[in-house]
Amino acid sequence: MKGEGGRRKEENSTPPTTNHQPLTRYNRGMSQISDKSPSIELATPIQFVKGCGGQRAELLAKLGIVTARDLLFFFPRDYQDLTDLRGIDQLEEGPLVSVLGTVEEIDLQDRGMGRSILGILLRQGTGHFRALWFNQPFLRDKYRRGQTLLLSGKAKRRGMRWEMVHPHVQVVETDNSPASSPSPLAGEGGERSEPGEGATVANVPLAGQLLPIYPLTEGLAQRHVRQLVRRVLDACVDRLEEVFPVAYLNQKRLWPIHAALPQLHFPANLASLEQARRRFVYQELLILQLALALKRQQAHDSLRALPLELTAKIDARIRRLFPFQLTAGQNQAVAQIAADMARSYPMNRLLQGDVGSGKTIVAVYAMLLAVAHKSQVVLMAPTEVLARQHIETLDRLLAGSHTRLGLLTGGQTAKARQGLLAEIASGEIHIVVGTQAVVAGDVSFERLGLVVIDEQHKFGVRQRAALKNASVHPHYLVMTATPIPRTVSMTLFGDLDVTTLADSPPGRQNVHTYFPPAEERPRWWEFYRKKLAEGRQGYVIVPLVESSQAEDAETESPETESPETESQDVESQTQLPTASLEATYEALANGELEAFRIGLIHGRMSPPEKHAAMTAFRRGEIQVLVATSVIEVGVDVPNATLMTIEGAERFGLAQLHQLRGRISRGSFPGYCCLFANAETDEAVARLKAFVESSDGFRLAEIDFALRGPGDLLGTRQHGLPPLRIADLLRDASAVAEARQDARALVESDPTLALPEHALLRRMALVRYGKSLDLGDVG
Ligand code: ADP
Ligand code: MG
Repeated sequence: MKGEGGRRKEENSTPPTTNHQPLTRYNRGMSQISDKSPSIELATPIQFVKGCGGQRAELLAKLGIVTARDLLFFFPRDYQDLTDLRGIDQLEEGPLVSVLGTVEEIDLQDRGMGRSILGILLRQGTGHFRALWFNQPFLRDKYRRGQTLLLSGKAKRRGMRWEMVHPHVQVVETDNSPASSPSPLAGEGGERSEPGEGATVANVPLAGQLLPIYPLTEGLAQRHVRQLVRRVLDACVDRLEEVFPVAYLNQKRLWPIHAALPQLHFPANLASLEQARRRFVYQELLILQLALALKRQQAHDSLRALPLELTAKIDARIRRLFPFQLTAGQNQAVAQIAADMARSYPMNRLLQGDVGSGKTIVAVYAMLLAVAHKSQVVLMAPTEVLARQHIETLDRLLAGSHTRLGLLTGGQTAKARQGLLAEIASGEIHIVVGTQAVVAGDVSFERLGLVVIDEQHKFGVRQRAALKNASVHPHYLVMTATPIPRTVSMTLFGDLDVTTLADSPPGRQNVHTYFPPAEERPRWWEFYRKKLAEGRQGYVIVPLVESSQAEDAETESPETESPETESQDVESQTQLPTASLEATYEALANGELEAFRIGLIHGRMSPPEKHAAMTAFRRGEIQVLVATSVIEVGVDVPNATLMTIEGAERFGLAQLHQLRGRISRGSFPGYCCLFANAETDEAVARLKAFVESSDGFRLAEIDFALRGPGDLLGTRQHGLPPLRIADLLRDASAVAEARQDARALVESDPTLALPEHALLRRMALVRYGKSLDLGDVG
């Protein structure tokens, strides 16, 4: 088996073979596992597969693997890539490369303050190279002298020596270590290994192969699972049902499942792996998009809404109330929304636009259109501060009209609330504004036509307002300023129609952003004072620690919350160590900003206190507001142009962008200065990106790339089960393709009733029926 090294270039636009020849196709000569077990069925419990047994079956059950079929769809998280092994003399800068070496020295330097450098010197033949890790001292215990490691990563030349920073490492069992299993290569378990003569490409058995690495739990070895997978593949691969019609596979150039699945587990080469992966990524994304498209279709077909048509007269009456002309982007958004609202099924539209792009007025337009038809409107905001701001904006616009507004807040007495609820139920109040928890509980309407949800992302993405209404459904308009990458919005909001506001109101000035060293503080404050003296206002943002429970509580169904509890809005649910905030306030009030009027706002204040602080700031009675991220969303005080962000490393990019969005709302330029204690590369990269770009969409992509999709998908925020193989970042183009295909499929076959779509439909229902509440489609 030696001498198979080097990259194998094979033509791979077609599957390796179409008729099933198990052992030769993916086993590549490992004839020791030739005991094909014909008794294994897809539904066979895994413990009855030869070589598994009860103990392993229990461990596998922890991973959700109960039957043979489960094991087949237990996908590798990675591969041990022995196809492109490099000798030290073949290294180059740029591409990802893999290189083998024997550990000679392990050196951990402690630099204090949690910082450290771990260096491992590896030998290959007569040459040496180094692997380096920053601030991960614990990795030291993972490796030992004499071990052979397979490193993958980007190599860099440092002086005379090659280095890899934070490489991906696998411990390799070499030929001269005792082979304890049929597979001469062990997993990353760190099995025994002898000090060899310095690993080289030539002395690695199975060089040239790609071996699967499964996401296992303690007690399970890669080699055992590989063995089981091979067995089950051998016995069952032909029994798997193909979900796609043959013509569809051909048209999309997708490998059939019988070819793709073995190659996903034991790829013959990288090209085969790519093809096999492509098939399953596409399948997973298509099923998801089909479920979303079915959801959308279902709403069209079965839900009734009040058609609220726009007439020239209504249009003129609405625009007369506006203090400014709408931008081209706003007009386009309004046109799309009006077209949706004219239909007899509910609008389900996402209005996306960067901070300050002017989403509110578009929503107000839609609200007034509904009111013109004598139907009621609900506007929900994630914080009470924002809800109050909205009601004030509406109050100003509607002064002198007969439209009646109602504000539902958490702080209201039961009696006041009952009074408001009665007026809402009778239809006397036309527009109801409040935080989601407050509005959704026990509120019923006479004739609800439209629900607007501002800053939707703050609510747990898929959560919908649970509003009581008779047989007709309201139109929905959801707004978000947290620009999320397109692929993510196509997934999270896949059943919604999307409008993006691409322009911003005229006369908008740039925000200048600085990230100076700490010694420049006095200069920044000097500048800050100068601008205050010119009449501007400013914020000073202090970070806070949000408890994880708070996040959970946020996504809880609003119905489970009593409207009178303290946890009314998202912000007040967070745990604030207000000490640091107050300390900052005191220090500024007695120091740098001594001569100015300073106020304070945070989530622990009572709603009236918060309101008083915001009002004083809006009126200019307070010049500087020391705040937590309570002001992060939506707050609109155009005269505020200054912002100091303390502890900036503690905020995510999206949050920083939202915060900065507070000071680019008027016709004066904004100035934002970050002070941070950035210790990780990631934090520095994040802050630099923030200084360099003020484009929210661009920043969202950077954020996504830096943090990975984990934060967005994979938490219960969105309510969808996690993806198993697709990666929204890496597979961005597949997301778009799947969405387009899914919508086309559902358009041609609205309930996927055709026999050739039966399996697709079933898979979509099994996987997403519950989370998307698909009921019985068709
Ligand atoms: P966001 O999209 O972040 O919710 P807002 O709707 O709060 O932004 O708008 C930001 C600011 O821009 C507000 O002060 C608003 O009055 C102003 N604005 C919005 N549209 C226009 C416009 N067409 N012309 C002038 N100012 C506008
Ligand atoms: Mg807004």
